[in-house]
Amino acid sequence: MNVSPMKFLETSLDKVITKRAAKVLATLGPTTVSELLRYFPRRYQAPGTLMDVDELVVGEHVTVMAEVTSSTIRGMRSRVGFILEARVSGNSGAELSLTFFSKNRGALIFHEKQLIPGRRGLFTGTVASYQGRPQLMHPDYRIIDAGGENEAELLAASKRPTPVYSASAKVSSWTIQAAIEVILGTLREDDVPDPIPSYVQEDRRLLSRFQALKQIHKPETEPQYFAAQKRLRFEEAFVLQAELARRRQDLLSKVAVARPLPAVDSTESILARFDARVPFTLTDGQRYVGEEIAQDLNQTHPMLRLLQGDVGSGKTIVALRAMLQVIDAGGQAALLAPTEVLAVQHARGINALLGDLADSGYLGAPTQATKVTLLTGSLGAKDRKQALLDAASGAAGIVVGTHALLSQGVLFADLGLLVVDEQHRFGVEQRDVLRTRFEPQPHTLVMTATPIPRTVAMTVFGDLTVSTLSELPAGRAPTVTYIVPAENPVWMNRVWERVREEVEQGRQAFVVCSRIHDDVSEPDASASDTAASDDPAALAERRQLRAVDEVLAELRSHSILHGLRIEMLHGQMPPAEKDAVMQRFAAAEIDVLVATTVIEVGIDVPRASTMVVLDADRFGISQLHQLRGRVGRGSTPGICLLVSSAPEDSTAAARLDALAATTDGFELARTDLELRSEGDVLGQAQSGRASSLALLRVLKDADVIEDAREAAFDVVGKDPVLAGYPALRDAIERQFGGREEYIDRA
Ligand code: ADP
Ligand code: MG
Repeated sequence: MNVSPMKFLETSLDKVITKRAAKVLATLGPTTVSELLRYFPRRYQAPGTLMDVDELVVGEHVTVMAEVTSSTIRGMRSRVGFILEARVSGNSGAELSLTFFSKNRGALIFHEKQLIPGRRGLFTGTVASYQGRPQLMHPDYRIIDAGGENEAELLAASKRPTPVYSASAKVSSWTIQAAIEVILGTLREDDVPDPIPSYVQEDRRLLSRFQALKQIHKPETEPQYFAAQKRLRFEEAFVLQAELARRRQDLLSKVAVARPLPAVDSTESILARFDARVPFTLTDGQRYVGEEIAQDLNQTHPMLRLLQGDVGSGKTIVALRAMLQVIDAGGQAALLAPTEVLAVQHARGINALLGDLADSGYLGAPTQATKVTLLTGSLGAKDRKQALLDAASGAAGIVVGTHALLSQGVLFADLGLLVVDEQHRFGVEQRDVLRTRFEPQPHTLVMTATPIPRTVAMTVFGDLTVSTLSELPAGRAPTVTYIVPAENPVWMNRVWERVREEVEQGRQAFVVCSRIHDDVSEPDASASDTAASDDPAALAERRQLRAVDEVLAELRSHSILHGLRIEMLHGQMPPAEKDAVMQRFAAAEIDVLVATTVIEVGIDVPRASTMVVLDADRFGISQLHQLRGRVGRGSTPGICLLVSSAPEDSTAAARLDALAATTDGFELARTDLELRSEGDVLGQAQSGRASSLALLRVLKDADVIEDAREAAFDVVGKDPVLAGYPALRDAIERQFGGREEYIDRA
């Protein structure tokens, strides 16, 4: 009798229900009592109005008590498959037919074995009419035992909403329901520890966990399952937020070196010298976020801040100013870029912005000057050695690089700030690497141009503080976007004419392709993983996608583009060659750059005005938004031409329409989420797992998430190790169990 509360929940199903039933249920996932109880109904079937057969009205959802008079299976004449037709008659003698279709006979035999003439049952469905007689198609039904013992019970059940579970060919919704009912029969309040503190529940009038589990699986009425869903939805949000709150606490308890701002009148300050020469006025947002960061850097625990700002909002300068503050305080900063091309551009751009302030070691450099060092995987041995030395000796105030920066071999004299650029996929796992890689922990600033709706940020990046740059610097010309049907040669010629016109006005163009080589075997590696896969039409068509080398050849020989300087850029080119092409493009020695999405993030060439994306329907919204962000960066208006062959009513077409309709990154991010499934939003790691969010919807349940977050942060704030909340600790452990893949990827 002395079973500890957790025990029953963790009991293996085959100890509670028959081995056979446990085995088939396992094919759907659940293997323990707890997992089965978390296998919530997908929906509920409203109880049918109890009627007699002669009262039936077409279109109504009904339940009738009747007796089987006949049942036969026959093959269908017109189609492949079988049909089972049974007749039942009610008290008045009026008849109703029940019809089941199936491709294989076996499935129908299952019904035939139950629908034996002479037996009575309850039949639920929506009334149709067939050959003048009322008919129920694929009705739900329950047969009353020969002795009629279960009649009262079945009648009572017929008045309740029927839970409908995600079933499979092997396991029917009824099998699941029956197994759950067995468990509910023995489940006691003590078996179900409640992770939500009682005061939090009372404030919100939430059901207890025990009550909610009963009501979600076996509601008497509709309001009962609503209340149960409400409670369990809150619980999902609450447990998740409690874990994020715990991580945040953990972070706050870590020690970092404070890097205070230099005194206002300090002429020794590199930040002050830099501010005096910035070629433009900072936007209000840049100034405000700058102050937030400056304060964070002055704390003795590590900053962990996410800076989100639309493409072109000017994040780099905000980061650079933070880096200079750290340098002033005697530390170093590292800037991590997602690609080598971007790292090179950043190093060059920062050098240019700093001017002689980056000339440390050269004769005549100001005393405050520092050194910007590039460290990427493709450096030659000699350069690499020098870069490592610069980092380890502290000679380099700023080290710019790719992920190679994080490898164990790279040592810093005194790393004070790590800036991670353009990482919308900077998940918990990567954050954990950072947490353990450097000692003491540097302050960390993560930047992303993929705006994340508030509640998603709260869910995925809930342990980070978020800053937002919501305005673009003044004087930006808008970019207009057009969708071009790929099959229309007149339109396509117009695209190239437009490119030519732009070039004639001293501007430049990108032409983006989803593949590198014109070779069928190569997967379209650079096209978005988020795009098109949800589009059966696009998949079925499986047409040939345009490749960089093929398009390069075509454009070079195209009469409209005659005389233009056209080059290519893709990830498989040697780094030195990529770099040379980028430099020549930046110097306007190239008019048209045919490229893959290597140019997707960060590239900043103000003269580029035109972005042509071929097979645009293959890309995701955020990727296209990023690509579009490569043009219209100066004062010349940008133009973005999305060449597509997506059918009009496809999801791909909806994505492109959204892009044509707005340039607001936040609005696009919302649309993107709406067009995707929830699973994509939080990453695939958790879909279909027992730990996944079953009821909570990140967009729709924004208010629940906010409410739960407040409550959870409050609880964790008062009791950081949750000593007084063992059930909450257990729930976190169960949901995040060991590996924290749950919120791993955005
Ligand atoms: P992103 O946020 O996309 O990384 P960048 O930092 O690359 O944007 O900035 C885009 C361009 O805007 C750069 O050329 C940068 O020099 C310029 N810029 C940044 N801030 C301002 C400002 N306040 N006024 C004018 N131009 C700015
Ligand atoms: Mg940038």
